[in-house]
Amino acid sequence: MSKKGKFQTPKGIHDILPKKQKYYRKVYQVCKKIADYYGFQEIYTPILEDRGVYEKGTGEGTDIVQKEMFKLKTKGGEKLALRPEGTPGIARAYIENGMSNWQTPVKLWYFGPFFRYEKPQAGRYRQFWQFGFEIIGQSDAAVDAELIQIFYNILRELRIEDLSIKINSIGDEECRPEYIEKLEEYFKENKKNLCKNCQKRLKDNVLRILDCKNKKCNKVKEDAPQIIDNLCDDCHEHFKKVLEFLDKTEVPYELDPYLVRGLDYYTRTVFEVFTGEEDEEEGQNALGGGGRYDKLIELFGGKETPATGMAGGVERIVEKLVDERLTFEEPEKARVFLAQIGETAKRETFDLLEEFRKKGIKVAESLGRNSLRPQLNIADKMEVDYTLILGKKEVVEDEIIIRNMKSGKQKKVKLSKVVSEMKKKLK
Ligand code: AMP
Repeated sequence: MSKKGKFQTPKGIHDILPKKQKYYRKVYQVCKKIADYYGFQEIYTPILEDRGVYEKGTGEGTDIVQKEMFKLKTKGGEKLALRPEGTPGIARAYIENGMSNWQTPVKLWYFGPFFRYEKPQAGRYRQFWQFGFEIIGQSDAAVDAELIQIFYNILRELRIEDLSIKINSIGDEECRPEYIEKLEEYFKENKKNLCKNCQKRLKDNVLRILDCKNKKCNKVKEDAPQIIDNLCDDCHEHFKKVLEFLDKTEVPYELDPYLVRGLDYYTRTVFEVFTGEEDEEEGQNALGGGGRYDKLIELFGGKETPATGMAGGVERIVEKLVDERLTFEEPEKARVFLAQIGETAKRETFDLLEEFRKKGIKVAESLGRNSLRPQLNIADKMEVDYTLILGKKEVVEDEIIIRNMKSGKQKKVKLSKVVSEMKKKLK
């Protein structure tokens, strides 16, 4: 609450007001269209999950779990969290709902709010929306490339320009531990040249040092061993194929040996999507990212199930939706206004409006008003073709006036006939 006793949204959390809705809806509609085309089914997982889903899935040592998760405990003692990201909830739902018996691959997509206790700034909020696409049950490199292409297609359909996709492979349980050891050794030798944060990361998240944007760390990173030179044969082959498939598409990708994504469950392919120029100091705000997570479902007690996914940040995408070639679905305009005079007529109006609604004819009204003039003014402003006028006299005579707003001509029809009469007129 503010000092004056007025409530405000919590820090970093915003209303999405009506004038912004069309942009959110547009992103949803493009996602849905593309999801339908590629055979993804929509899923809603809950906003509240068992906290363990993220501690175990996203990873205890990650920034998301350590610093950013909104945690709560119920009166019954359940430890829950507001979901900070989508993939672990999907993996939980996959197992809980026996999706391993569904036809493979299981292709799911979602759109909804997520929560992270971050320092609010442009493009970074504490409640934000994401869409995500997951392909569960296949390890083929073609699937990784397909998912990246889907993301690219969504953004292109939204007319976002200047896109670049950074891609890397972070190996698997075969080759990554050895690489991390090498990396740790290298960074330990150079510890004094790392930023404070990365000195801490040396203990529990060495890989994450690679995507630090600090100038000092950038210098150290230049000579660090690169994962690409340390992949096992299988991971190397997989990554090579992903790139070969991407070469078949229009997707503008570039290799980024420093991209790691920093969540525990990723294996092999990781990628992030950007638009515009990179800021040397700040890096770039990604529009989204994703990668393969071949071990997550097994980690949650399911069968060994390879999977890959991606998520896009809706706020950051909405900020880019200014292209005048973009068309938005606007609500249907009413062509008829129903004006009523007096209580008796007002009561009658309720039935009549329902009849019109059931017949699919949109009728505007202003039930809070009583006299005719202000209602006609509104009808004028709305540029409707017809205004129906119902007064006490008309109700008694079981009639209603149809006024043609262009010519000003009026005629009376039977109340029971007005819906069919209007249907004819509006054809
Ligand atoms: P991540 O999986 O963390 O890379 O998140 C995927 C995408 O969601 C990011 O690329 C951003 O576009 C968006 N995103 C993540 N965190 C936030 C946030 N705090 N506020 C707004 N958008 C976010």
